Amino acid sequence: MVVVGAGILGVCCARFLQREGHAVTLVDRNPPGEGASFGNAAVLAVESVLPVATPGIWRRVPRMLADPMGPLALRWGYLPQLVPWLLRFLAASQPRRVEEISMALAALLEDSIPAYRRLLAEIGAEEMLVRRGWIGAYTTEAGLTGYRPLAELQRRRGVEVAELSVAEMRQLEPALDRDLAGGFYYPDVGHVLDNYRLVLALAEAVQRDGGRLLRRDVTGFRLGPAGVEAVETTDDTLACDAVVVAAGAWSKELARRLGAKVPLDTERGYHLTLPTPNIELSRPVYSTEFGMACTPLAGGLRLGGTVEMGGLRAPPDWRRAQVLAARGRRLFPQLDTRDASRWMGFRPSLPDSLPVLGPAPAAANAILAFGHGHLGLTLGARSGALVADLVAGRRPPIDLSPYAAGRF
Ligand SMILES: Cc1cc2nc3c(=O)[nH]c(=O)nc-3n(C[C@H](O)[C@H](O)[C@H](O)COP(=O)(O)OP(=O)(O)OC[C@H]3O[C@@H](n4cnc5c(N)ncnc54)[C@H](O)[C@@H]3O)c2cc1C
Repeated sequence: MVVVGAGILGVCCARFLQREGHAVTLVDRNPPGEGASFGNAAVLAVESVLPVATPGIWRRVPRMLADPMGPLALRWGYLPQLVPWLLRFLAASQPRRVEEISMALAALLEDSIPAYRRLLAEIGAEEMLVRRGWIGAYTTEAGLTGYRPLAELQRRRGVEVAELSVAEMRQLEPALDRDLAGGFYYPDVGHVLDNYRLVLALAEAVQRDGGRLLRRDVTGFRLGPAGVEAVETTDDTLACDAVVVAAGAWSKELARRLGAKVPLDTERGYHLTLPTPNIELSRPVYSTEFGMACTPLAGGLRLGGTVEMGGLRAPPDWRRAQVLAARGRRLFPQLDTRDASRWMGFRPSLPDSLPVLGPAPAAANAILAFGHGHLGLTLGARSGALVADLVAGRRPPIDLSPYAAGRF
């Protein structure tokens, strides 16, 4: 059994498969956890039942794009390549589609934290995951009012959410500025204290229990009558009885070789990690207006987020990371942003905000597990458990048809 990609998706798939007795080989061209899984905001965002494309987004996008340092930016040279993705993205914002997508997201999110707890208990690392909720903070009345219908939709999907006054928010997080409009509290949200260590710990567990970790660049597959017989790499060919493609934002070409034509693109995101933030947070704070999460990690405070559409090749625009510092100070006046480390990563994103999870069209023994967009950390363990069901030929506990590669 070969798993391509040693990000959070790959290591979770490998661990769940290993539990069932499979001899697993994890293959990555880089060391584990150095893709998108390295620098995310570490939030287990179980409240995130809404697609990125919410109703009326087409009206808001032009305003957002007018500010190159805003929460959404576009590399204009990339636009021609992006148009088909954007059209599908806008189609996903139709109210009827939003209902369907939110049901499909809720079904995936439901067991996402328990699935991590199962994996972490086995390796004695339960303390890596904490569940103290998170706060969505708004700097303006307009932002707060605009969000209320979305919070209502979340409630209808079973998400627990309470609207808070500024004073109530500051009771939970005294470091928040007084000059805010209010916010929402989601008690069931969790976070991990070190998202990169989490990937490493799971990759180490795979190896400790007899799995292999190989540094290879996967180029394709050898197909036979029974499906995939081997994984081809730039160095060698790895025979296998089954394969999982969990190569994040780079999965599109590999999926195509397995008969799946998927509109995978990347929503690039940035972070700053502040080693001495000078404030204490007990839980993550999110700002929809800034497109940014502020998460207390073991090694500092992370300001992470924003979306930049620009493909996999354009170099980072570090001004987009730098601007997070000013936005962070707007929420937390005492924030010390000195000595920040910065990072840019590639969210693997499908336009309907749902991942691809299921068998590949050209080979029943090839499982596709990528495209988790803003929710790859949250859904890592849950997806790994579902992939193990598929490989075992068991009926998964939820209907996987909304995530099929063939939906496009
Ligand atoms: C700024 C930012 C903040 C985020 N915050 C959150 C958050 O708070 N919560 C959340 O749930 N999600 C968050 N995300 C999203 C999350 O980080 C991703 O969805 C997730 O990391 C994707 O994991 P992955 O394993 O699919 O991909 P990756 O981590 O990118 O791993 C893919 C791996 O595949 C390897 N690979 C690719 N092609 C090949 C090949 N041909 N051969 C060999 N190896 C290959 C790569 O080297 C890489 O290691 C955030 C993302 C960003 C950018």
